[in-house]
Amino acid sequence: MKVPVCDLKAGYAPIRDEVLKAIGECLEGMQLFLGPNVQAFETEWADYCRVSQCVGLASGTDALVLLLKACGVGRGDEVITSPFTFFATVEAIGHVGATPVFVDIDPQTYCLNPSLLEAAVTARTRAVIPVHLYGHPAEMDPINAIARRHGLRVFEDAAQAHGAEYEGRRIGSLADAAAFSFYFTKNLGTYGEAGAVTTDDEGIAQALRELRNHGETSKYVHDRIGYNNRLDEIQAAILRIRLPLLDEYNSRRREIAARYNEALSDTSLILPSEASWAKHVYHLYVVRSTRRNALAEHLTEREIGFSLHYRCPCHLQPAVTELTGKPPSLPVAESAAEQVLGLPMYPQLTDEQQDYVIEAVRAFEQA
Ligand SMILES: *Cc1c(COP(=O)(O)O)cnc(C)c1O
Repeated sequence: MKVPVCDLKAGYAPIRDEVLKAIGECLEGMQLFLGPNVQAFETEWADYCRVSQCVGLASGTDALVLLLKACGVGRGDEVITSPFTFFATVEAIGHVGATPVFVDIDPQTYCLNPSLLEAAVTARTRAVIPVHLYGHPAEMDPINAIARRHGLRVFEDAAQAHGAEYEGRRIGSLADAAAFSFYFTKNLGTYGEAGAVTTDDEGIAQALRELRNHGETSKYVHDRIGYNNRLDEIQAAILRIRLPLLDEYNSRRREIAARYNEALSDTSLILPSEASWAKHVYHLYVVRSTRRNALAEHLTEREIGFSLHYRCPCHLQPAVTELTGKPPSLPVAESAAEQVLGLPMYPQLTDEQQDYVIEAVRAFEQA
C-alpha cells in the first residue's frame, strides 16, 4: 500500500463534473474578473466566518501584504509574529518594509505564546500577526488584550484554519482582520491560487478593494498605487463548489485525528492537543518524536507520505536574518522544528489506509 500525506485527486473525483461545468460557464460568459462568482463567494465566505466583509484576493500571501499596506504598516515599523509558520507570514512583513519580531510559541498549540508577547512590544511595534497553525487557533483573547493596551493592530493568519473556532467564535472574526489562503492543499482550497481577507472594518475592506485593483476608485481614476491581486472568477466558482463541503470535511478530519490519537496514545510520540477553548480542524496531524528523522526514514521505506512543517523556523531563515541581524534564541520553536512530523491527513483517507499508517508507526516504536 502507498499512502500520500495529502490526496488531491481523491478530493477532486466527487466534484469533477460540477467543477468542469462551472469552469465552462465562466469561459462561455467571458466575465473573468470581479464578476458574479467573486461577489457571491465574498458574501458566502463572510457569512461563514460571521463577519460583514470579505475581499477576494489572488493568494494568502497577497492577503497578508495588502492588509499591512491597507493599515499603513511600513518602513521603520515592527510587526510581531510567530517564528513557527509558513514563510509567507514573515515575507509579507518584509514586503512592506517592516521588521519581523518573533515571539516564541506555546509547546502545546504551536501558536504564538501570549505570555511572551508583551515583552516584545516596543515603541515601533504596529501590529501582531498570530498564526492559527495546523488548524488549531491561537489564544486570541490575551493577544487582543495586550494589543489593545499598546494600540496595536491584530491580523489573524488563518491560512491553515478554515472553520476552526476559539471559545465558540469563528476564526476569521477574532481580530481587526484575517488573511485566508485557498491554496489547493488547505482545508478550503481551489485548483490554482486564491486568498481573501475577512473583517468587520469597512475601511479596511474598502482599502483592500482598491489595492487589489491598481488603486482604482472609479473607472480610470487611481487614488493610490495598488496591485493586480484580484481573486479570479474561475477560482471563485470552484471555491463556491467546495465551500458547502467544508464542515463535513472538517468533521472527517477530526474523526481521523481522534482515531490516530486513540491508536497512538500508548507510544512515545507526543500527539497533537486541542485546548479546552479550541475547535481544531486538523489541517495537519502533527506528532512529535525525539527520533523524528528516523521515523521519517521508516515511513519512506513503507511508501507513507509525511510533512515536516516546519523544519527550519522563520527566525533562522537566511532571508530573515538579513533583515533582523543576529536571530533571537527561541527554544520552543527550535525544538519543535527538530521533532515535528505530519502524518497523512485528508478527508478521503480510508480506515484501511490509516490502519496501515498506524501499524507502521507502531512497528517503528517497537523496533
Ligand atoms: C499557505 C499559507 C500562507 C500563504 O498562502 P498562499 O495562498 O500560498 O500565498 C500564509 N500563511 C500560512 C500560515 C500558510 O499556511
